Amino acid sequence: MHPERFESWLTVEPRGLYCRPGGFHIDPHSPVNRAVITHAHSDHARPGHDHVLATRETLALMKTRLGTAAKLGTQTLGYGDMLQVGDVTVKFVPAGHVLGSAQIMIDWRGRRAVISGDYKRSPDPTNLPFELVQCDLFVTEATFALPVFTHGDAKAEVAKLLKSVKQFPQRAHVVGVYGLGKCQRLIALLREAGYAEPVYLHGALAACCEVYESFGVELGALKSATGAKREELKGAIVLAPPSAIADRWSRRMPDALTAFASGWMRVRARARQRGIELPLVISDHADWRELTRTIHETGAHEVWVTHGREDALLHHIQSTGRTGRALALIGREDEES
Ligand SMILES: [Zn+2]
Ligand SMILES: [Zn+2]
Repeated sequence: MHPERFESWLTVEPRGLYCRPGGFHIDPHSPVNRAVITHAHSDHARPGHDHVLATRETLALMKTRLGTAAKLGTQTLGYGDMLQVGDVTVKFVPAGHVLGSAQIMIDWRGRRAVISGDYKRSPDPTNLPFELVQCDLFVTEATFALPVFTHGDAKAEVAKLLKSVKQFPQRAHVVGVYGLGKCQRLIALLREAGYAEPVYLHGALAACCEVYESFGVELGALKSATGAKREELKGAIVLAPPSAIADRWSRRMPDALTAFASGWMRVRARARQRGIELPLVISDHADWRELTRTIHETGAHEVWVTHGREDALLHHIQSTGRTGRALALIGREDEES
């Protein structure tokens, strides 16, 4: 192992990225002895690890979603606190992605690597904003790593939804959202925009909302959509997992108008394919400009790219004089975008 040669001490193993001098995996996709977890989305936080190190929020969300966060023991590390793990120093830095999401900063013998996990730079009332860290190696996600992806202003998308609700007061607005992150962000954005009516939830969305609330994120009045009367749902905003908006569940809604809040809604064909009447471009991932700007601002000479569309980003990294590398990590399907 040599500190200057990152690939000698941060290695790609069958179960994921492994920090050799620290003796832990980062977001491994199958059970390991020691895992450090960036955030609770299912493509990063898998069940069955012996020991898990994560933020308090991530551990709470893992417990809610998986039943238990680790088989033998969990350890909490707060944002900004340093922890010696094996021979390395670990620090969690806000990633701005979802509640509890952290970039993992690892220092070893004078060299610094930052593993971003998923991140975004745009404002989100439900979690701490992304914090930039100068580093030698930056390991970035690449979910929306094509120049065509520009996410724009989430507030403007929420205004579209509210306008539609005004325009069609007889229709239930059924909005597809991912259960962890997007759901709570959309509710918080609605509240910021002054929407004070109850927001109706599909049953699958309630548990994560409760975790957010337990960490002080205010979501206002939430009601179960399943228990609600048809009349009550006219003109209401109903949030549901993407899988539910197309199936029988949403047919019970009065004259459902289907919307979907996702970065993918930038691609009109995707919205059409899903039969979405009102696509809302709201993403919890960095778009092309955020990705390239962040890579530049970290000052990293070496950049590794994890899940997503690597090719264009690698080309960008190399053409700006940096060393780029695509990590072929398996099991990353970007659950939530
Ligand atoms: Zn994620
Ligand atoms: Zn991801």
